[in-house]
Amino acid sequence: MHPAIQILADKYGVKLSNRVCGGYDLQEPCFNGKDIATREIRLFDAMGEKTYCFGREGAYRQAFPLSDHDILHEIAHYAVASKEQRMLPEYGLGSILPGIFDDSILLATINEEEADIQEALAQLLCCYWGEKYNINPSLSGSKGYASTWDEYLLKKAVENIASRGSDIFWKALIYVRKLMDEGNLD
Ligand SMILES: [Zn+2]
Repeated sequence: MHPAIQILADKYGVKLSNRVCGGYDLQEPCFNGKDIATREIRLFDAMGEKTYCFGREGAYRQAFPLSDHDILHEIAHYAVASKEQRMLPEYGLGSILPGIFDDSILLATINEEEADIQEALAQLLCCYWGEKYNINPSLSGSKGYASTWDEYLLKKAVENIASRGSDIFWKALIYVRKLMDEGNLD
C-alpha cells in the first residue's frame, strides 16, 4: 500500500482494517461504520475462472487486496461524509451486496442529490490526492480501467454529466476547489 494512503486515513480519522469485504455468502460492506476493509472477496469456479455462482460445485472464494485507488476512494467518502454518516455502513449512501439467495440492501439515509454529490466528490478527491502523491489509478478487478488520473477524471466527468446531470458534477468540482484554496486537502 502506498504510504500516503495510511497518512490520509490518519488525517481524516478513519481506521483501515485487514477485513475482507464483498457480497455472496460474506455480506460485508467495504465501510462497516467502523473501519475500511482493505481486502475483497472474489469467486472462482472449479476451473479457477471468475464466476458469480458461489453455490456451484467446486466453486471457491479467495481474498485479494483492494487497490490503492479503491482504498483512497473509501477514505474520500469518509472525508466528505457527515458525522452521522461516518457511523453507518457505506456512509449511509445506500448500496447492494449481491447474495447467493438474496441481495442485502443497505438503504440510503441521505437524499439522492447529496449522495450523488458525495460520489462525485470522492472521485474528484481521488484525482487530487492521486496526482499529488503519485498513487496508482488502477481500480481492483473488473473496475480497473484507467491508466492515468487524467483519463479517470475525463471518464468520470463524462459519466457524471450523462447520468446525474452537469449541475451535480460542477457543484462537486466547485466544492473541491474551495477545499483546495482553503488548504484543507494537503
Ligand atoms: Zn463511491
